[in-house]
Amino acid sequence: MEKVKKPLKETRQVSDILDMSSLKWRIEADGLELLVQGFKEKKILGRKCHKCGSVYVPGLSFCRKCFITIEDVVEVSKKGKIACYTASLADVRGNPVENITVSVQVNLDGSDSWLMGHLEIDDWKKVYVGMPAEVVLREETNGTLADMVCFRPI
Ligand SMILES: [Zn+2]
Repeated sequence: MEKVKKPLKETRQVSDILDMSSLKWRIEADGLELLVQGFKEKKILGRKCHKCGSVYVPGLSFCRKCFITIEDVVEVSKKGKIACYTASLADVRGNPVENITVSVQVNLDGSDSWLMGHLEIDDWKKVYVGMPAEVVLREETNGTLADMVCFRPI
């Protein structure tokens, strides 16, 4: 892999153990359903706000900026740029792990939100905010979240 440049000066590193067990995330089932339906046809589908033009992937049922219901389905690119990432260097007890994994949030081209996934990369130190990456889908998709294998750098 070629030497990568870090385009942004502002990055934050958190060197601590975070207890995530009390946090809750709310994901609209409708948006996930649309996403996995798109996987069947090897597409990434989201929703576009007809008022402000914001595109959400997974596709929310309402625009977070305009607070209106949105229904327009749009296809976005499988390629985008890493917006943020986390390298798991230790387990929940703080013990170093042998196989370091990298979770990423990727802003896919054509969308205004981030899609989360695992980044397949040999060295987490090569990852940077702004790094181009693409969605990798299984060869045969059947409309489940498992169809999305990972992101890979491009
Ligand atoms: Zn809007």
